[in-house]
Amino acid sequence: MTKIMNYINNEWVEPKVSEYTEVINPATGEVIAKTPLCGKDEVDAATKAASEAFPAWRQTPVQDRIQYLFKLRDLLKTNHDEIGRIITRECGKTLGEAKAEMVRAIENVEVACGMPMMMKGEIAEDIAPGIDEIMLRQPLGVCATIAPFNFPGMITFWYLPYALATGNTYIVKPSEKVSMTMQFIFELIEQVGFPKGVVNMVHGAKDAVDSILDHPDIRAITFVGSTNVAKYIYRRAAENGKRVQAQGGAKNPVIIMPDADMEMTTQIVADSAFGCAGQRCLAVSLAVTVAEARNSFTELICDAASSRTVGFGLDEGIQMGPVISQTSKENIEQLIGLGTKEGATALVDGRGTTVKNYEGGTFVRPTVLANVQPDSEIWKTEVFGPVLSMMHVQTIEDAIKLANSHIYGNQASLFTSSGAAARKFRYEVEAGNVGINIGVAAPMAFFPFSGWKDSFFGDMHGQGMDAVEFFTQKKVVVERWPKEWSRKF
Ligand code: NAD
Repeated sequence: MTKIMNYINNEWVEPKVSEYTEVINPATGEVIAKTPLCGKDEVDAATKAASEAFPAWRQTPVQDRIQYLFKLRDLLKTNHDEIGRIITRECGKTLGEAKAEMVRAIENVEVACGMPMMMKGEIAEDIAPGIDEIMLRQPLGVCATIAPFNFPGMITFWYLPYALATGNTYIVKPSEKVSMTMQFIFELIEQVGFPKGVVNMVHGAKDAVDSILDHPDIRAITFVGSTNVAKYIYRRAAENGKRVQAQGGAKNPVIIMPDADMEMTTQIVADSAFGCAGQRCLAVSLAVTVAEARNSFTELICDAASSRTVGFGLDEGIQMGPVISQTSKENIEQLIGLGTKEGATALVDGRGTTVKNYEGGTFVRPTVLANVQPDSEIWKTEVFGPVLSMMHVQTIEDAIKLANSHIYGNQASLFTSSGAAARKFRYEVEAGNVGINIGVAAPMAFFPFSGWKDSFFGDMHGQGMDAVEFFTQKKVVVERWPKEWSRKF
């Protein structure tokens, strides 16, 4: 069993706690690690180390700081397969999906390696005779990330490389459900040889999070997780005067127009809805068919859902893994049940799934629900499982209205061959990530990532220039150097 330890001041520290959470391989039910539920003492120790490391790290030239990131990028590349296998074992997604999330993680490190250009300031000379105005970007100090279970490797990298490259020091709090991936990545971070205290990791759950939120020396927090917790994090961190961004849950609509290429659309929508067992914040979960799109899409999506191969993600040919836990499986099955009670028809029903040789696994097969009723529980609630709810309308206007009526706004997609429809949708839809003939509109590392409405609380987003903005504070200097003074030298 993997031993999970904190990493503080460049040392592996044995947590002095009595409570642990089990990390379970969701395909087998086997306990593969135990996450220590740390709290204030460990967060205090990590913050002290990061605070002490900050002055020297900040003064390290940016060109030198990014040399550590180049090394980290190489180590992540060399160990790509190994990291993927750990993700599959603790999180359940297939090896292909696990490796794909690390591609985005690596890409973020690569983008942050451009920091010498990205964090440069600005200068305006002679705003008045002999007076210049300069804008500098300076790091904040100690920053922290609180991560969810569904991307154990990638999500921390929306932030960490930018924070380090801009001169901040860092604390990572991984999800207690999937602590092995970051444990392994921190072994790579150890090999990189950052100066002591620059990057730290504390494991735990609510106590660790609350200690991060309340610590006076932590200046900025990024959070990714469910909406209720995101709201709590945003409120409490802001009350404590911290810079904070909190990404929340989602319920992503996809609109299918009658002129869409139906074969391609169905394949892409199925990959989006059922990939990663639907446990992806950009997964489409609500398909809205417009006019004649209904019949052909329904038939094809039901075929795609029923033919998906479900099993342990490290086995050959598996297209979908289990959901994260027994609790999650029960919640998903309960929501499907509620949906049918409230008027939906289960065209493909994934409840009660067992997989041969993996009887201890928490599998839910892809599910397709037709005639989902507006305002029913299955419509309102984020399912976070492989369940596609379907609704039908007659016009694109009605479809966009339906999509925009939801509290979430993480992603919305449209499938069409009409440029005019695409433009209308792009213009009117209320979502932070928009796909046109794309099922998972995940921005590249050099674009900002975040949702709208109840999917995001904050201002600056993750990745790219937004992350540079988030992890730096601007200082404007106005200087007077009268010409006549130069005669003195
Ligand atoms: P979660 O909210 O349960 O947990 C996220 C983090 O918050 C974990 O580190 C956990 O330890 C901590 N936490 C949980 N409850 C807490 C509490 N009461 N007080 C303080 N801290 C607490 O989320 P999850 O189940 O790990 O992840 C799934 C959720 O994350 C889904 O809702 C999904 O949509 C969302 N998500 C969003 C994005 C995005 O970019 N918007 C990306 C990935 C996942």
